[in-house]
This record gives sequence, C-alpha cells and structure tokens, in this order.
Amino acid sequence: QKPSLWRRYLGISLIWKLAVALVLGVVAGLIFGPDIAVIQPLGDIFLRLLTMLVMPLVLFTLMAGIASVSPKTIGRIGGKTVAFYLITTAFAMTVGIALALLISPGVGLDLPGGTEAEEREAPPLAEVLTNIVPDNIFGALSEGQVLSVMFFALVAGVALSFMVDSDDERLAGMGADLRRLVDSAVELVFILIRGVLQYSPIGVFALIAVVVGETGTDALLPLLALTGTVYGGILVQILVYVGILALFRASIGQFFREVREPMLTAFVTRSSGGTLPVSIQAAERLGVRKGVYSFTLPLGSNVNMDGTAIYVGAATVFVANVTGTDLSLTQIVTVAAVGVLASIGTAGVPGAGLIMLTMAVTAAGLPMAPVALVAGIDAILDMGRTMLNVTGDLTCTRVVAKTEPGMLAEPEAAADTARSDG
Ligand code: ASP
Repeated sequence: QKPSLWRRYLGISLIWKLAVALVLGVVAGLIFGPDIAVIQPLGDIFLRLLTMLVMPLVLFTLMAGIASVSPKTIGRIGGKTVAFYLITTAFAMTVGIALALLISPGVGLDLPGGTEAEEREAPPLAEVLTNIVPDNIFGALSEGQVLSVMFFALVAGVALSFMVDSDDERLAGMGADLRRLVDSAVELVFILIRGVLQYSPIGVFALIAVVVGETGTDALLPLLALTGTVYGGILVQILVYVGILALFRASIGQFFREVREPMLTAFVTRSSGGTLPVSIQAAERLGVRKGVYSFTLPLGSNVNMDGTAIYVGAATVFVANVTGTDLSLTQIVTVAAVGVLASIGTAGVPGAGLIMLTMAVTAAGLPMAPVALVAGIDAILDMGRTMLNVTGDLTCTRVVAKTEPGMLAEPEAAADTARSDG
C-alpha cells in the first residue's frame, strides 16, 4: 500500500519544507508586492502559536531545570552565562561600529524632508532591575514578562528542590509529586511545539512574502550600504561563534545542523522571544540538559542581542553620516553603553532594535530624522539580527553545558572522547 500524500509530506524533513517555503515566499512577495499583505494573518497565526507557548515553557522548564541541579551549580551557570552574554554583546557592538566607520554607509545620501521619529530615553538601570521582581506572578504571565516569570520560576524551582530533599516525609512526598507534575507539563508543551512546527512552513511563507512585498526594492536600494554593513557584521559575529565553539571542542557541523531550524524561525518571525520554543527543541537535540538551557535560553532571548548591538552601532554611524556629523569618542562610548543597557531592558520582539536605535541616537545627541529612513527597511535588518541573537543564545548554551559536568548528554561526550582518542 502506498503511503498517503499527507504521510509523505510529514516524512519530508522540516528544514527542507521551511527552505522551500522561504524561497516561494520571496518569489510571491516580489510578484505581488504590497498586495500580498492579505496573507499576513497566516503569518500572524504562526507567531501567535509560538508566543502562546512561551510563558508556560519558561515557567515549567525553568522550574524543572532548577529543581534538577544544586543551588551551587545554578550560581555557577548563572555567572558564566551573564559573563558570556555581556562579553559577546560588547564585542558585537564594537564590530557594528567599526565596520560602519570602515564602510561609511549613508555618506552622500539625501534626507527626505518631513520625516521625524520620536526621541526616546533609555530606562534607568535601577528601574530595569526592579522590574525583574514581579509584584504579581499572574500579571507577569499575562503580560508576557519573561524576566519576571524567570525570577518566579527560579525561586519556585529552588523551593521545590528543598521540598524534594526535605527530611519531612510528607513534604518530600508532595515535592516529588509536584516535580512529576512540572516535568509532565514540560513534556506536554514539547508535544505542542512539535505540532506548531508542522504549521511553520505556511507561517514562514506568509511572513517572508509580506516583508518582501511591502519593503520592495525601492526602499532597499538607497540603504544597500547600511544593509551590507549590518549583514557583514552578522557574518563576522557568526565566525566568532564558530571560533568559540571550536575552542570548546564542539562539533561545528552538528551545532549548525541542529540550530538552523531556530535560526530560520528567528529570521522570519523577527522575534527571539517567539523563537524560544524552537531554540529549546534544538538545545535538546544538541544534548544539553534542562538545568542549563532552561536558564540560558529564556534569559538570552531577553537580554542577549548581539545582532541588535551590531545594528544599533552601525545604524548610529549611518545617522551621523547622513547628517554629516563626525562622531566623537564620547558619543561612540555613549552609544555602546546605551546599546548594551537598552538590550537588557528591551524584550526580543520584532522591531525592538529600532526603539533601541532611537535611544542611542537620542543619547548621542544626533538628529532623529534619518532614523525614519532606517525604519523603512527595518524588517529586512531585523531578520538578520534576530537570527544572530538566537544563534548567540544557543552558542552560549552549548558552551556552558560543556563546562558543567553532566550537563551535556552522552552521545556528544562519547563522540568527543572518540575524537580525542583518535
Ligand atoms: N527582533 C529582535 C529580537 O527579537 C530584536 C530587535 O529588534 O533587534 O531579538
């Protein structure tokens, strides 16, 4: 008996279906132009399905993950992760600014009159940090505040491990039950993610078609130098990740084979927050334990934005060039500082980088008008930078797992020994 068409469709590997959807989407966008926006709902459904799973995923995986490791290990993982994120983001910012100074995008570009973007200030650090502690966990869940939910899941996970290890038999029993419940909830969400991924080719097709259709080549051409600078920076940073992975003796081929799905999802959804379910599946396939990825990935989707840092750096230089300003060293340092701070306070959602750019431009005291120019092609730049943001999170996850005993599953470890033996 021949397998049905549907069965055969299911049998094709997802990455192929996504690749075909991507190409068809670009073609459809070019053919139909702005009219293709009618299929936007198909893309929105994909985004909403992913986002729907983010809050339960963060809450349950982090609780389960934290409950599975000792408090000392949590502290160590936390320290390494934060250090990794800060260093790579600072580096990315430098890459963005340096490349832009080298390529000089925006020099000789005429500014269209009458466009003004609003000035914005970066939120003060104290406020950013205070807001991490939720005053209402259900409020944080319903508003989708990842950092606040992480805070709750972290303390609840620690409390849960105390329950499980308690000498009081009654408490230990309840702890064990609750842990089983949380573990089961994680599995449930994982099954839902696999379901959503079956829909992803349709979502990818719609999202990419609308971006290509609406942006068009007219908007893109004058800003080709800026686009090239940003994508060049992204390429440089990917090479940096490759170097870091090699340093920690990870198989580069295996890494990118597993992370191409979240990379592509990030590319079309332009949301590292929304890509979280797909990134977590990739971390699982890489053999990383929950104890690591349940912390590094949600945190990274919120605070680690290397692609955005490159973009903010490069686009600020672009703004200076368009207005014929020579950036002083103080301005450059201000931009870098605001960029890093703003990335902590801004969630990984589509277009977040544009808001950060306005903050950086405000802080550097530059005119706001050229930002409107950048806004016209923001979607195109957002795709690349979000893809890089997610790749950075996964690189950190893989590296931290490698440095923690027992946090990387056997096959990988076995392969490593085989390599070093041979
Ligand atoms: N869209 C990006 C993200 O979700 C943030 C940005 O706009 O740069 O990571």
